[in-house]
Amino acid sequence: MNTVLEAPEGIAFQENENQKMIAQMIKDFGEKEIKPHMMDWDESQEFPMQLFHKLGELGLMGVLVPQEYGGSGFGYHEYVTAIVELSKVDSSIGLSMAAHNSLCTGHILQFGNEEQKQKYLPKLASGEWIGAWGLTEPNTGSDAGNMRTVAEADGDYYVLNGAKNFITHGKSGHVAVVIARTGKVGDSRGMTAFVVERGTPGFSGGRKENKLGMRASETAEMIFENCRVHKSQVLGEVGEGFIQSMKILDGGRISIAALSLGIAVGSFEAALQYSKEREQFNQPISKFQAIAFKLADMATKIEAAKLLIMQASELKNHGKPMTKESAMAKYYASEIAVEAANEAVQIFGGYGFTKDYPVEKFYRDVKLCTIGEGTSEIQKLVISRDLLK
Ligand SMILES: Cc1cc2nc3c(=O)[nH]c(=O)nc-3n(C[C@H](O)[C@H](O)[C@H](O)COP(=O)(O)OP(=O)(O)OC[C@H]3O[C@@H](n4cnc5c(N)ncnc54)[C@H](O)[C@@H]3O)c2cc1C
Repeated sequence: MNTVLEAPEGIAFQENENQKMIAQMIKDFGEKEIKPHMMDWDESQEFPMQLFHKLGELGLMGVLVPQEYGGSGFGYHEYVTAIVELSKVDSSIGLSMAAHNSLCTGHILQFGNEEQKQKYLPKLASGEWIGAWGLTEPNTGSDAGNMRTVAEADGDYYVLNGAKNFITHGKSGHVAVVIARTGKVGDSRGMTAFVVERGTPGFSGGRKENKLGMRASETAEMIFENCRVHKSQVLGEVGEGFIQSMKILDGGRISIAALSLGIAVGSFEAALQYSKEREQFNQPISKFQAIAFKLADMATKIEAAKLLIMQASELKNHGKPMTKESAMAKYYASEIAVEAANEAVQIFGGYGFTKDYPVEKFYRDVKLCTIGEGTSEIQKLVISRDLLK
């Protein structure tokens, strides 16, 4: 049994040189390529495809992909750093980058055969292609195992019919990993993962959502109408799609925790600076204990979230079980990020309610973090199931 204060095996508290390099690179890139345009993208809900090609050139579209497939070959700590730093600048970009890396690309990397990896990973890692990952359907979100999109065997092909919704890059993605039913409803081994390329007859993008936040990250339907997919496009074994997805979400949740952390830190840093500059009653508002205590709460919770994320990343890097730990990191980081963004707007007062300061956008973007890749309630379900097993 672990003692209470025993650190998870080999946990690395020290930031490595690669993490420092990635953080600086994203800071520079963000100043030049993201900040000047991000409020326009937000306003018009434009998904800036060109930017993702540039992120690919920086190695950020295949952070976890081994170099032999054209990726950066980094581990989860570097990946978390990349998402945190991008999300501090523009969380929409952080979300799209995370979905591309850990969902679509991650699924092919983890469960694809050699031929599939050779075919798709170099294009995805270079950012030439943008990836999508479709699990959610209009009637089945948290209860994804109850999905209705079907894939019926027909000779050497599967015929897909159904719709996926809320899919990041559902319209613009060049390739999608899609989970569809190949067995009975209610059978967790009755679902299979397929790689489907854009342009495959019968596969189209549907409605694009008009969203509260994360507006530069495209969220759209994917529609399948008698879409014939060759059996060579099955990822792993037939019937393993749902189980694979749960494993992908274990890793994906670390990325949403990192996204949350980036927003929390961005909100905190903006609020800290502003509180020292803004004067009321002839003194900086930071001198009021009510404001200083908000900052203390934010900073403390950010540190706690950071440690949970580092723990989950370390376990993931070592290939150890981390379902509970990634759910804890995602649950806690997302909830405290919502609090941090809320308090940051409060510290900015009326100015926080305007688009002149970054906290307004953080406040809108952050709510996705308690919903995407499993709501907070579902994280508590995952954590409590593990505790009670
Ligand atoms: C911007 C955005 C991007 C997304 N990107 C993707 C993507 O790329 N791919 C993809 O597949 N999906 C994606 N999603 C979908 C996302 O994962 C789902 O929205 C999420 O899992 C919740 O499902 P739902 O929206 O259907 O909510 P529901 O499952 O209907 O939940 C509604 C409410 O009921 C609660 N609830 C449900 N079941 C339980 C339970 N058993 N116990 C307690 N409470 C419960 C939930 O916590 C929630 O509060 C995205 C969503 C958004 C908003």
